[in-house]
Amino acid sequence: MAIKINIDVGHGSNTAGKRTPPFPKKVKVNDKLTIKKGEQFREHIAGVGVAFLLENELKRCGLETLKTGWNDANGFDDPDTPLNERQGAIAKAKCDYSVSIHFNSYGDGKTFNSAEGVGIYIHDKYQGESKKLADLVLKHLAMGTKQKNRGITPRALAMCNCNKMKVKGAILVELAFMTNLREATELMASEKFWKESAVEIARGLCEYTGIKYVAEQTIPTKAITPKSSKEDIRWLQERLNKVIPSWLPKLKIDGDYGPKTRIAVLVYWDSLGWGSHMRDDGLKVGNSTRKALAEGRTN
Ligand SMILES: [Zn+2]
Repeated sequence: MAIKINIDVGHGSNTAGKRTPPFPKKVKVNDKLTIKKGEQFREHIAGVGVAFLLENELKRCGLETLKTGWNDANGFDDPDTPLNERQGAIAKAKCDYSVSIHFNSYGDGKTFNSAEGVGIYIHDKYQGESKKLADLVLKHLAMGTKQKNRGITPRALAMCNCNKMKVKGAILVELAFMTNLREATELMASEKFWKESAVEIARGLCEYTGIKYVAEQTIPTKAITPKSSKEDIRWLQERLNKVIPSWLPKLKIDGDYGPKTRIAVLVYWDSLGWGSHMRDDGLKVGNSTRKALAEGRTN
């Protein structure tokens, strides 16, 4: 049976506090999101940014996932799920491990200050195998963007309680300080850092569970057909899963260009308004489709 990892995102979209102080100038997070001068950026939004990318990483590596505290790529509409509900859902889903994504803060939250760095919490009492898992995830996090390494701290946090969640290990990652202007601007409010963090957490989990880490493929240069390499087909399936409408079941990332992948291609063309493609058989993914998939276009 595949190993199941819960990905938890702390708090909710509108939880009081849990946001940066007002930014002194505008910050571009990605193509879709810019924080205006004077605006505060919420911890949960950045957390979902990381979690969404982490889920892709883990699925690609063959791990099963559960989500608590969020449900999709949109971090703006999540209620703040009570901690005992989160714990119950994780236990019920029989997860093996849980990772909770947070950004740290220090001070009154009204002004930026110098506290900084990356660190991980594990439970002080009910920690199971969490220490070793935390060691490996922190090792990979420390290999990316240079940050102060705050180490591993034992604390009685709900999302670290292996007993309550019935998991073998549970860690709570504080990726950077939202009350540190540099870390808030360059890390928390940067999609590039979200991606880097997701890759590093995935690498740590893979190393810990003994699963081979599979890196994201670059865009295939040739048309993708049922005869293409498994890598190219997996790339297609992974990308299709991000853009197909929610009523269509997600594809298994198995590198096999079967009927479900073919139908997903046809549905995708339709959603792009490429009507003439509906007379096509959906068995050849050309240059413009690969480009649209790489950009994650949905219409
Ligand atoms: Zn938090």
